[in-house]
Amino acid sequence: MAYKYDSENIFAKILRGEIPNDTVLETDHALAFRDIAPQAPVHVLVVCKGPYVNFDHFIDEASEEEIVDFNRAIGQVTARLGLNPDEAHDGTGYRILSNSGAHGMQDVPHLHVHILGGRKLGRLVERAD
Ligand code: AMP
Repeated sequence: MAYKYDSENIFAKILRGEIPNDTVLETDHALAFRDIAPQAPVHVLVVCKGPYVNFDHFIDEASEEEIVDFNRAIGQVTARLGLNPDEAHDGTGYRILSNSGAHGMQDVPHLHVHILGGRKLGRLVERAD
């Protein structure tokens, strides 16, 4: 499968330091920063550092090290922000999601996961009918 990555997308520019960001966490293979147009009191994006268009591209072509680091980074952000609903953290919970392609309504063609929390988030998707 040939994926076409556009290195001029806005997250690539953030990763190159050309555009500022409000960093929450950085690991070897991931950068987490606050969304510029938050949809909830907590809205953080976790972006992989490698040039992957979406989740499918990442899972097909990323190394095991990148996949583990990226997923651990998501967990580190939810812990750091006190969102974890387990007994140890006593947070109020959160939602993670990643948009892909036209129906997923992905705007930025560089793999990222949204972490949303800080309020009751409602249903996952609107009913179409
Ligand atoms: P998506 O529709 O899943 O591709 O989401 C892209 C997200 O990136 C949106 O929630 C935007 O608000 C967010 N975004 C766009 N530009 C920036 C930026 N410069 N810094 C932080 N977040 C951004």
